[in-house]
Amino acid sequence: MTAPDPSVKGWCPSAYRPMMSGDGLVVRIRPNLARLKQAQILELCDLAERFGNGILEFTNRANLQLRGISETGFPELLDALNALQVLDTDPEIERRRNILVNPFWKYADRTVRLANVLAAKLDKLPDLPAKFGFAVDTGEWPVLAEASADIRLEALASGDILVRADGMQSGVACDESNAIDTVLAMADWFVRNATNEARRMRTLLRHIHLPEHWTQHPAATPAPVPGLGQCDQGQLVAVPFGQIDAKTLRACADLAEAIRLTPWRILLLERVTGFSHPDLVTDQNDPLLQADACPGAPLCASASVATRALARQIAPLVAGRVHVSGCSKGCARSKASDVTLVGRDGLFDIVRSGTAQASPERTGLSPKEISKELSA
Ligand code: SF4
Repeated sequence: MTAPDPSVKGWCPSAYRPMMSGDGLVVRIRPNLARLKQAQILELCDLAERFGNGILEFTNRANLQLRGISETGFPELLDALNALQVLDTDPEIERRRNILVNPFWKYADRTVRLANVLAAKLDKLPDLPAKFGFAVDTGEWPVLAEASADIRLEALASGDILVRADGMQSGVACDESNAIDTVLAMADWFVRNATNEARRMRTLLRHIHLPEHWTQHPAATPAPVPGLGQCDQGQLVAVPFGQIDAKTLRACADLAEAIRLTPWRILLLERVTGFSHPDLVTDQNDPLLQADACPGAPLCASASVATRALARQIAPLVAGRVHVSGCSKGCARSKASDVTLVGRDGLFDIVRSGTAQASPERTGLSPKEISKELSA
């Protein structure tokens, strides 16, 4: 098997089409309803160690990735993942299964019902760009407004469901019987109008108006990202930079009936209380919660610098958000941060109040010079 080239614009890996990275293949799993049962997690930890380098990652779409998989071991891993029932057996349906859910769903509630109906109708969708996705955010209040999705379903105070194109502040009110068909119609409209330059809904809507009947109802005010600690379903703990080793994840799974993934690098450990672990964050005031860093070198072939150790070191020195990026692509965070360090030729450029693509204030600094600069 030859892994596809990740530099192709708009290309998005799936379990059947893993991405080649600096440490081997990255195999992405999209858990149904963002939930993995205890036995599935424990088996995934074993597989991560057996076929990869024992490192697992949580993405900003609430997916799980196994890293460092060898090309020779990949076919056997794929069989094991299918046996574990964490993939759709149809690679094309698996590719389309970009469905984020509000992680605070309760058994058989509206979020679960809508997500299941949408999943069952994935074969009715037109051929969408690989990164095109959906957010089923019909809990008490919307929590996924900042997470990546192109068509959103949100609860309205009236009890109806708002179907909203990403980038709009309003949508169309539906009930449960017609919400998913409206999603399909919106996806059809997108495909008829998308261009090579506009392959996400938000980008397209900068150039073209959505039909008026899809913009009549204002969206509810979104809730902030939930804090760490207890919630109705269990305990929320953060995974620094979204990366965890199999041993630590096993320690979580040993206690939890199941683990729900979120787009915030936070895990919801079902029915767990009072858990703590030295490699996880349970204190809402921990500076690591304000730090983003991509895998960097040696994990990513585009990076000339290591990122996460430096991010840990400087997070307490920065008042606000800090982003350490292995290169100017800025995979870990597309928005501006108070301080962004961008790797280039083995050193770092510093951007203040900008993204990894913004003009740097200073260039060519070593990690030592950066610490000095930020401590001043
Ligand atoms: S930002 Fe980081 S992960 Fe993304 S391509 Fe650059 S080095 Fe790799």
